[in-house]
Amino acid sequence: MWNWAQNATLGDKSSVKAPTTEAEVQAIVAASQGKIRMMGSKMSPGRMIETAAKGDTLLDLSQLRGLLDITDDSATFAGGTPLHEVYEVLSGVGRMLPASPGVIASQSLAGALATGTHGQGLQQSSIADEALSIRMVLADGSIAEFDRDHRWFSAVQLGLGSLGVVTQVTLRTQPSLVYTCFKNAVTADTLEQDLLDWNQNYALSKAWWFPNENQVHVWAAREATSEETRLYHDNNDDLVKQEETSDAMNQTVDQTLEHMRSDTRILDEDGKPFRTVTRFKDFSDVTGDVYQVFCRGIATPQINVEIGIPLARAGEVIRKIKAWHADTQPHMHYPIILRCTGPSSSWLSPSYAQDTCFFGFVVYYAEDGSLSEEGTSFLRAVEELLAEEGGRPHWGKYFEAPLYDWATLYPQWHAFTEVREALDPQHRFENAFTAALFD
Ligand SMILES: Cc1cc2nc3c(=O)[nH]c(=O)nc-3n(C[C@H](O)[C@H](O)[C@H](O)COP(=O)(O)OP(=O)(O)OC[C@H]3O[C@@H](n4cnc5c(N)ncnc54)[C@H](O)[C@@H]3O)c2cc1C
Repeated sequence: MWNWAQNATLGDKSSVKAPTTEAEVQAIVAASQGKIRMMGSKMSPGRMIETAAKGDTLLDLSQLRGLLDITDDSATFAGGTPLHEVYEVLSGVGRMLPASPGVIASQSLAGALATGTHGQGLQQSSIADEALSIRMVLADGSIAEFDRDHRWFSAVQLGLGSLGVVTQVTLRTQPSLVYTCFKNAVTADTLEQDLLDWNQNYALSKAWWFPNENQVHVWAAREATSEETRLYHDNNDDLVKQEETSDAMNQTVDQTLEHMRSDTRILDEDGKPFRTVTRFKDFSDVTGDVYQVFCRGIATPQINVEIGIPLARAGEVIRKIKAWHADTQPHMHYPIILRCTGPSSSWLSPSYAQDTCFFGFVVYYAEDGSLSEEGTSFLRAVEELLAEEGGRPHWGKYFEAPLYDWATLYPQWHAFTEVREALDPQHRFENAFTAALFD
């Protein structure tokens, strides 16, 4: 059994069990002897899911899927529901999550919660922060429900798959909003201050920084005016693109594509990795709902690293990256992605208790499944730099664990491990990855 990127094995296919009901999950957990790990859409690095020994169980939760209940301001979904289904169901009834989406929506709801998956915007935080209650099958096969008043809720929100099997999540919802997103290309000279301005002045903002070209492509969205909203409804609630386009990113994109071509050796000019940057060419402002505007990723096998830095220190870190870039001229085939979020209440969230700027880095796989040596050495060096600055890595992406002192980085680390001991005293939901973290 492989993970989504097919760069890691998760275990033997014979260890996979695919329950169709919560009662079946209970029976499997109660009867199993070895360790148990859960699988959502398998988009995280394989080590988060991997099981090793004979007798271990890989729980495929893709059949625990769909809407279970809906009220005026909440919706309950089965844990294995893909996020795109969550968004489609909510959009269909004129609702949305208060948390903005990530770049793709193929993750499962429980997998997104388990890793602190997030989008962008200081007035919101991770998807887990919109959970009102989380239902799990515990290590003994019993069921427990955790709501926001539960003293362990902040652990259960982002549990790294080490507390129990999440079978249902009730999410807070709000009326669907229409946004107009302004797109621009600017110099990176003043990025330290611009990043703060975009995030403070707009509800949702995301930026792609091309250090080689000293240029930034920025998206900044605010709620649409009534006239913009009318045009959107006149367009059958489809994304409205302004006719006027800008070619200000075209040269930068062409230079980035040149690096990507030589690194990936993919010949198809319309190949997926190329499309992730060619979409920045001839850009225009758009009006649409939050999913139409921001959830536009093209999932392609990659090594992705994303490190959260307290927003108050982001400017200083940008200055250090600039100095490091000028010194070392690292080889990059994708821009640095900058997304900020508000504080999370999950104890193990990289944005726990503080506004956070996430610095994201991507290296795509080559046609033959290899990774460019220059690309990986760039990732190693930039991660070291950010770890030294007190960065907290995204759990569902790649990171070098020895660079981090978890108990120092996370003030509630020990509180989390105590919850783990209470809920799973025999460490039945453990694998090598979580054992190295917690034991
Ligand atoms: C192309 C790409 C784009 C991405 N974009 C973003 C982005 O925009 N923003 C962002 O924040 N992240 C992003 N990510 C990271 C991604 O959101 C996480 O890796 C997420 O965990 C993937 O969800 P999944 O369903 O595939 O989880 P999996 O990889 O299947 O599992 C992740 C963890 O969750 C646990 N788990 C799964 N199901 C359950 C369950 N039912 N109960 C308990 N534990 C469970 C697993 O055991 C594992 O530990 C991206 C990743 C890729 C590859």
